[in-house]
Amino acid sequence: MTARVIDGKAVAREVRAEVARGVEQLLAAGGTAPGLATVLVGDDPASEVYVRNKRRLSVEAGMVDQHRHLPGDVDQATAQDLLDELAADPAVSGILLQLPTPKHLDSDALVLRIPAERDVDGLTTLNAGLLAQGRPGLRPCTPAGVMRLLDAYDVELAGAEAVVVGRSALVGKPMAQLLLGRNATVTTAHSRTKDVAEVCRRADVLVVAAGIPGLIGADAVKPGATVIDVGIHRGEDGLVGDVRYDEVAEVAGLLTPVPGGVGPMTIAMLLANTLTAAKAQQGLGD
Ligand code: NAP
Repeated sequence: MTARVIDGKAVAREVRAEVARGVEQLLAAGGTAPGLATVLVGDDPASEVYVRNKRRLSVEAGMVDQHRHLPGDVDQATAQDLLDELAADPAVSGILLQLPTPKHLDSDALVLRIPAERDVDGLTTLNAGLLAQGRPGLRPCTPAGVMRLLDAYDVELAGAEAVVVGRSALVGKPMAQLLLGRNATVTTAHSRTKDVAEVCRRADVLVVAAGIPGLIGADAVKPGATVIDVGIHRGEDGLVGDVRYDEVAEVAGLLTPVPGGVGPMTIAMLLANTLTAAKAQQGLGD
């Protein structure tokens, strides 16, 4: 079997076009353009690239760029003050603190300065709690992007065996909850799981977010399964994921590439969350 490749770039383009139309409709309804405040602390080159792309694509979707850059040696109180200022600014619909922040800062405490209704990364305890309870809220962008990819390829979730590898607050945990919310039977594997490959072989839908290059090979994949690779690693020959693409492609039914799979979806869902937040704040929500 040779897997069908999931085209994350194409689905992300569709989502961004939908968001751009949504922004136009918001303006036509008498609203104001959503403002996205990306907050970058320091000069980490990878974070700079991520933030630049988020800013560029938000402007392309008709949003207002409210970016802020703080020096790498900023103290906690100053960073907190900036987030409080953004939280009170009516022109700011969404706030994204680019992670990781420099080690001397308490990033958890900084995230908690972001009001839940502007938390477009879906990382505050309130939004995490709403997700855990299955109630509406802003969802973390990467797992939300995976759900959108699964839907775009009509992957059956109700009653499916889903395995998520990884349990971070950013990806694994919300991913498992979103799949559960769609009635999949969900198992989470992590670094203490005794036999990760055996657990993964149960999966009709396997989402891998372990942060270990090439962790998952063909021996961990049920024939015909849908395999979503969230991992991103910069290798000698470019970007690679947590899944050994070439060998898994021989077994899986559907598979995301790296790059061009989950990565583009993360920014697209950030824009979707920012539009949702703006509409709700302006009383023009769905
Ligand atoms: P993380 O915080 O490091 O979490 C990794 C998770 O994987 C942990 O729960 C860990 O288990 C588990 N794990 C580690 N080694 C394992 C092993 N050998 N077997 C099974 N589970 C293992 O990472 P993250 O933030 O969730 O990100 C995961 C990956 O996704 C990274 O490569 C990251 O770069 C990528 N990522 C991509 C996007 C995107 O837009 N495509 C967005 C976010 C993240 P324990 O909890 O037991 O330690």
